Amino acid sequence: MRRTKIVATIGPGSESADMIGRLIAAGVNVFRLNFSHGSAQRHAEVAARIRKQAAIAGVYTGILADLQGPKIRIGGFTTDKVQLAAGDRFRLDLDLDLDAGTVHGVGLEYRELCECVTPGDTLLLDDGRLRLRVDDVESAAVDCTVLVGGPLSARKGINRLGGGLAAPALTTKDIADIDSLSEVKPDFVAVSFVSSADDIHQTRNLLAGHNLAPAIIAKIERAEVVAEQDTLNGILEAAEGIMVARGDLGVEVGDAQLIGIQKDLITRARKKDRVVITATQMMESMISNPMPTRAEVFDVANAVLDGTDAVMLSAETAVGDYPVEVVSAMAEAALGAERHPVARTSRYRVERQFSSAQETVAMSAIYAANHFPNVRGIACLTESGTTPTLMSRLSSGLPIFALSNNPTTLQKLAICRGVVPLFFDATAFSEEEVESSAIEYLRDGGYILEGDSILLTRGQVMGHPGATNIMKILPVN
Ligand code: PGA
Ligand code: MN
Repeated sequence: MRRTKIVATIGPGSESADMIGRLIAAGVNVFRLNFSHGSAQRHAEVAARIRKQAAIAGVYTGILADLQGPKIRIGGFTTDKVQLAAGDRFRLDLDLDLDAGTVHGVGLEYRELCECVTPGDTLLLDDGRLRLRVDDVESAAVDCTVLVGGPLSARKGINRLGGGLAAPALTTKDIADIDSLSEVKPDFVAVSFVSSADDIHQTRNLLAGHNLAPAIIAKIERAEVVAEQDTLNGILEAAEGIMVARGDLGVEVGDAQLIGIQKDLITRARKKDRVVITATQMMESMISNPMPTRAEVFDVANAVLDGTDAVMLSAETAVGDYPVEVVSAMAEAALGAERHPVARTSRYRVERQFSSAQETVAMSAIYAANHFPNVRGIACLTESGTTPTLMSRLSSGLPIFALSNNPTTLQKLAICRGVVPLFFDATAFSEEEVESSAIEYLRDGGYILEGDSILLTRGQVMGHPGATNIMKILPVN
């Protein structure tokens, strides 16, 4: 059983019901709807399709609505694309019409550009594929020299090396998109270019206004956020999870810096009981090739060994030629890494005090399960999903079966490493029957075998969220 979860971005290449079904079968746990593209109406239709296909497959699949955020983008060109070469002059021109770009320059909407850059700065286009050096800053235009050229098409992103080129986090479009989420009912909402904990609070309040309480994922993609400890800690405390958004973060800090930052962000998230997604260009070559490169397999494996909950596919599944194959390849790479002892052993938080009975039981359960070879899995009766989420913050080779009668809880747990979300209605059984019924359910589902032992956790009075206070080791017979 694979522990690492897969997030796949839906796009024109993957939005049909048939393809969504095939992607679920190949191993997708969470689908990302990218609000940088497509209408709210379209996203709502796709969300309904995902729910239906997940129900057909009999699995709990999460939906993540990823807000566009204040990404700064260039305008368009008179042709499909232009080809820039090293040494060419290129002008970012606020006075140029948004669709009037040529090989000599392009328009853009970001009025503050000229105040944010100075001569000598490096600007990066299209996730860093192209590089420009700033030569001269005028009141409404920036003149540049192309350092690294390549093809450039409409609406590509623009970043500054070192960061600092970004508007406040929630845009008017984001707020309008949040207003449209009542139809999508996402399990997760990702906030792009988060700059502080306030961005998360504001998002949560806006969502609450629509009676929505998804888990909020803060996308870490600004250089200044990873440079500022207090800001980063505040964001980690405010959000339920983070995304290591390597696309934008990588171009702002440079890939060589990103390696350490990825490890640090994953470790910090887990220590603070937050979930973490590692994203962007993980299997990029599979957009047009049926096989990953060894470097890509190792990149996925490395994120798994770093402790990520989930690995994410973007263009690979949104517009790529091999959406099903790339999910299978990613699943295989993750499984390979999970065989390594580093992925299964844990330090059990020996250095810290637990803050609740629930956390104490969750941590003790993993400790016991990892050290008692008879135990084949952990059955966790849960309402809110907190106990299995806490358990999955420690490494283990054993599955955590999260048993709940709440579909929203189960869909959120789809992202947690090592957690298998399963529908089980504890309220349908008497106090005497509930444990044996849970074991029977797992045995009949083929998750555990007769003769195994299982570790079970629950609250003494079922039906009270956060009340887990019992741990038992029970035989399967
Ligand atoms: P994006 O975010 O794909 O929305 O840009 C992820 C990233 O920047 O890595
Ligand atoms: Mn990004």
